[in-house]
Amino acid sequence: TSRFEGVTMAPPDPILGVSEAFRSDTNELKLNLGVGAYRTEELQPYVLNVVKKAEKLMLERGENKEYLPIEGLAAFNKVTAELLLGADNPAIQQGRVSTVQGLSGTGSLRLAAAFIQRYFPDSKVLISSPTWGNHKNIFNDARVPWSEYRYFDPRTVGLDFEGMIADIKAAPDGSFVLLHGCAHNPTGIDPTPEQWEKIADVIQEKNHIPFFDVAYQGFASGSLDEDASSVRLFVKRGLELLVAQSYSKNLGLYAERIGAINVVCSSSDTAARVKSQLKRLARPMYSNPPVHGARVVANVVGDPNLFDEWKQEMELMAGRIKNVRQRLYENLSQKDKSGKDWSFVLKQIGMFSYTGLNKAQSDNMTDKWHIYMTKDGRISLAGLSLSKCEYLADAIIDSFH
Ligand code: PLP
Repeated sequence: TSRFEGVTMAPPDPILGVSEAFRSDTNELKLNLGVGAYRTEELQPYVLNVVKKAEKLMLERGENKEYLPIEGLAAFNKVTAELLLGADNPAIQQGRVSTVQGLSGTGSLRLAAAFIQRYFPDSKVLISSPTWGNHKNIFNDARVPWSEYRYFDPRTVGLDFEGMIADIKAAPDGSFVLLHGCAHNPTGIDPTPEQWEKIADVIQEKNHIPFFDVAYQGFASGSLDEDASSVRLFVKRGLELLVAQSYSKNLGLYAERIGAINVVCSSSDTAARVKSQLKRLARPMYSNPPVHGARVVANVVGDPNLFDEWKQEMELMAGRIKNVRQRLYENLSQKDKSGKDWSFVLKQIGMFSYTGLNKAQSDNMTDKWHIYMTKDGRISLAGLSLSKCEYLADAIIDSFH
C-alpha cells in the first residue's frame, strides 16, 4: 500500500483537459477549438517573425543565464508598463506604478491574489459570471473570497449591464472588482466606452479597487492602444488599481510564461512599498522569474522597428480571426433554416465565440463531430480555418436542433 492512498484522482482541467482528449482522437476531421491559442490558416502553431528576430539578436549578443532580480528584468518591466498605460502616462512619469514580472497572466494574477490575501484579508473579489475558469481556482487556492457579478445575458446574447452595475453596487464597499480589459473570456462581449465610464463611476462611488486582467491587448481590435483604453480610463481618473498582463497571446509566447502585475498607486512612496511586498511574496513561491521571454518582450517592445513590425503581425492575426468569424457567421445564417439570429457571432470580439451551446449540445459537438471545445459552449476561433467553417457550422446547427 502507498502512503498516498488517500490521494484521489483530480478531474481533468476544463480547458487544458480538452486538448488531452483531442490528442487521443484519431478521426481526421477532428478540430481543437478548446484552448485559446492562435493557429495559422493551416492550423499550425505560429511563432511571430518579430520573436524570431529578437531571439536571433539575443543569441548574437550571447546573453547569460544569471538569475534575474525577484521583480524581474528591469527593461521588461519598464516597457510593459509603458505598453499598457502609454509611455507619457502621468502615473508612470510620477513613479506611481509598481511593476513586477510574473509567470505570465496566471502567475501575475496569483501573485496579486496572494497580495490581496495578505493585505486585504477581509475583502472579497467580484468576478464576472461567467469568467475564465481559472479565475476561481486562483482565488480559491490563494484563499481569497470571491462572488460573482452578472455579466452575460443569454436572452440578448449580450452584456447584462444593468445587472452588472447593480451587483457591483450591492457588494461591500472596498471590494476588488476583476474586469477583463478587453476581449472578455469566454463571452467576447466588452462594455462600450460609455459603459466603462459608468462602471468607473460606480467603482469610485463604492471605493472599490479595480483589478484588470489584460490577456489580449492588441488581439481584440488589432490596436494595442485601443485595447488598453479601459485601463487607461480608470488610471486617468486617479484611481488606484491592479493590472495583470500576459504576452501569451499577443506575442505568441505561451510557453515562455511572460507577463506582469502592475499596481498603480496614489504616490511613488506607496508604489515602492507595494513593490517590496510583492517581491517578498514572490521569493518563497518561485524565487525569481524566467529570463528568456522577458528579453524577447524587451527587445520587441523596446525597439521602434520591431515594435512596428509586431503591430503589423498582430493586425494580421486579429484580421485572420475576424475573417474566420465572418465566414462562420455566413455559413451559419445561410445553412440554418430555423430563423435563428446568428449576428451575435459578429458582435463578439477577440479569440472566442460564445455560442450558447449547452453542455449536452457541446458533448454532441465532440462525440458526433469530433469538435473539441469547453463545455460552456465557448469555441476558439483562433483554432479555426476558413476551410473548416462550413463543417463547424453544420456541427453547430446539428447540435442546436
Ligand atoms: N486571463 C484570461 C482572461 C485568459 O483568457 C488567460 C489565458 O487564456 C489568462 C489570463 C492567462 O494566460 P497565461 O497564463 O498563459 O498568460
